[in-house]
Amino acid sequence: MKRFLLIASLVLMISACSKTAEEVAVTSDDPLDLITQERLYSHLAYLADDALEGREAGHEGYALAAKYVAEQYAAIGLEPGGSEEWYQQVELQTYLLDPDSPVMTVHRDGGDAELGARVDFVMGGDKVRAENSIRGEVVYVGYGAHAPEYGYSDLEGVDLEGKIVAYFTGGPASITGDKLAHFSSTTNKSKEWAARGAVGSIALYSRKLEESFPWERASQVYGAKPSSSWVNTSGEASNYVPEIRGSALISPAYAAEMLEGSPISFEEARDAIEASESASVPLGFEVSLARKTLHERITSPNVVGLLRGTDPELADEYIVYSAHLDHTGITTVPVDGDAINNGMYDNAMGTAIMIEAARALAANPPRRSILFVALTAEEKGLLGSDFFAHYPTVMKESIVANVNMDMPLFLFPMDEMVAFGAEHSSLGAVADAAATAEGFTLVPDQMPEEILFSRSDQFSFVKQGITAIWLDTGNQSSDPDVDGPAVIKDHLLNHYHKPSDDLTRPINWEAALKFTRANARIGWGIGNDDDRPTWNEGDFYGDMYGP
Ligand SMILES: [Zn+2]
Repeated sequence: MKRFLLIASLVLMISACSKTAEEVAVTSDDPLDLITQERLYSHLAYLADDALEGREAGHEGYALAAKYVAEQYAAIGLEPGGSEEWYQQVELQTYLLDPDSPVMTVHRDGGDAELGARVDFVMGGDKVRAENSIRGEVVYVGYGAHAPEYGYSDLEGVDLEGKIVAYFTGGPASITGDKLAHFSSTTNKSKEWAARGAVGSIALYSRKLEESFPWERASQVYGAKPSSSWVNTSGEASNYVPEIRGSALISPAYAAEMLEGSPISFEEARDAIEASESASVPLGFEVSLARKTLHERITSPNVVGLLRGTDPELADEYIVYSAHLDHTGITTVPVDGDAINNGMYDNAMGTAIMIEAARALAANPPRRSILFVALTAEEKGLLGSDFFAHYPTVMKESIVANVNMDMPLFLFPMDEMVAFGAEHSSLGAVADAAATAEGFTLVPDQMPEEILFSRSDQFSFVKQGITAIWLDTGNQSSDPDVDGPAVIKDHLLNHYHKPSDDLTRPINWEAALKFTRANARIGWGIGNDDDRPTWNEGDFYGDMYGP
């Protein structure tokens, strides 16, 4: 009841705010003056309130958040841009391994060996099928990567027809940066294996994986919780490779035993991948894998607002602004009695910034049109953005760029900004100009080895060939007394994806306001340019996915 009252008073407060908006709109010439601390705060206060229960996709709290964003779009004067008014419904399928079902057997001339589930091996569920059962010869394929254009292949000339591959996660050190993100992706590898006729996969433990995800932990958590994918009307699921009908991860101890007497031992295989050497070879035995999977369907919307461009020639081209609206919901691990992951910074903040950038842009619309998309199910694996990028509510070819915001942190005074992906396209120059106009210095990605660009929603657009940037704040504080990286590390360790990512976190409003203004400027920068954005000449992503 108390919560309900709080919501009611917030709604009143917000409608009071939008009246002020109209007043400001007529009294100020500069649309950027519409961006205020009060407005940003009012969005955070609503979206990060306990009443929204952490905005988990498919849950009531997310539905409330989606309705709120649609009302904000309407108040700003946007048009509905979804497939059902403001909404684009995304159908999500959760899949969970039936815990009693997994079976893995090794077949040799000397007899069969049945392995122990969660002792020798773990499995996840199948995204679509309720039951899988396969048997095949096992072929060792190193990383299982195929990148001949970069002088590396574990698959060239290897017969995989009807086979099960034994592989290590990751990719060779000889392939670096962005390229490694592509070639080490298990989905991309699986497509290569499937194209060669493989039916299953067994993942082996590298020494590196053992450090970050020890077997003791994997044996408990792997496949224990439901995962999700989106499903389209034809029943296709995202990142699904139907040909690969069985997969398992096996313990380092069992891998050593399994490869005994094979042409390559487990430790030899580990040495080979560390030296970026392909050593693919049939192992001389067969394996069967079987499992059952439990499925459930839920629906959760992306919320889409349209700002129509002013130039008759260019209004049919669209910039997509995006920020994920969902968060992780209610945790099973309460902290000090609080179980609600409010997601104030992650990503009520990005959503608030997008709404306020939209307000400023709507006061002086650029020549191109803009879609503002509050995305669902980012926290379940970039699902809302991947669905939108596959099935946008406008022609895919007419989308010229994506500008994404995800969890910008304003924990201290700052004068640095980052635009992840700036180095790949002409959007870099636009972001640079916008940042400079607000007194920020645009600094390069400070942790390129983390390949962060591939880890938020903008990457869904990149994979459809659309130029994209993800705007973030820098690590350094402009206050010499503040150790910026230490403050951020503390946030990531103690508050990120925890109940304390709420309105008790500090917010440096000066930085937040400048950042929001820079965000809006990017819309004018892209939207008023004579030419649509382009991938840089010879860019890896542009060549891989671009037109
Ligand atoms: Zn998150």
